Amino acid sequence: MNILITAGPTREYLDDVRYLSNASTGRMGYALATAAVAAGHAVTLVTGPTSLPTPAGLIQVHRVESARQMLAAVEQEFAAADVLVACAAVSDYRVREQFAGKLKREKQETLLLELVRNPDIVHQMSERRQEGQTIIGFALEAADGEQNARDKLRRKGLDAIVLNAVSAIGAEQNDVVVYFADDQVPRRVMGPKGLVAEELISIARELHQSRRARS
Ligand code: C5P
Repeated sequence: MNILITAGPTREYLDDVRYLSNASTGRMGYALATAAVAAGHAVTLVTGPTSLPTPAGLIQVHRVESARQMLAAVEQEFAAADVLVACAAVSDYRVREQFAGKLKREKQETLLLELVRNPDIVHQMSERRQEGQTIIGFALEAADGEQNARDKLRRKGLDAIVLNAVSAIGAEQNDVVVYFADDQVPRRVMGPKGLVAEELISIARELHQSRRARS
C-alpha cells in the first residue's frame, strides 16, 4: 500500500525567530513510518521539525514547519495514498500576521497576539477522499478521552482514531485505544512505541482491505 504519514509538531512563527508550537517529539509518527516500511509498504512522510533521524527506506520526505506548509505537502501527496495516517500534532492557531524581523520589547507590559485557526488537514483530506482511501487520525485527550475521540472520528470523517493519553508525549511506551467508524469493537494496543506502531500499521491494512472490498 501507499501510506502517507504526518508526524511531529508544527511551528507557527510570530516573527522571524519566535514561534508557537507544542511538545510533540514526532516519535509515534516516525515509529509508524519505520513499521510501515518494514511491513513492505511505500511510505511518504510529511514531518514537522523533530530531532529524530529520518527512517530508512522512505519513498519521500517533506520537511515542513507550519500547518499551512503541512497542508500543502499533504495535498500534493494525498491522491496517490491508499492510507493517510495523521499523527502530526498540528498547532490549532497561527498569528494573523507574522512580524517581519524580530519583535521589539516595547515599553508596554503586555503584548496582544491575534490568532486565527489553522486548516484541519485530516478533515480536509476526508472531504476529498476517493473511494477506497482510508484515513486514520489520532486524538490526544486530557479528559473524557472516549467521548472526545468518538466525536473527532465522526466530525473529521475518519475510518479510525487512535486515542492517546497526554502521558504519551515523548514517552517510550504507549497505551492506546483504537475506535472505528464501523461497529468494530475498539482495540487496545500497548507496549513500546515500535510495537504499537506495528500493530497500528496492521490495523490500517485490515481497514484498507475492508474499505476496498466495500467500494
Ligand atoms: O482536533 P485535534 O487536533 O484533536 O485532532 C487530532 C487529529 O487531527 C490528528 O489526527 C491530527 O493529526 C489531525 N489534525 C490535522 N490538522 C489540524 C489539527 C489536527 O490534521 N489542524
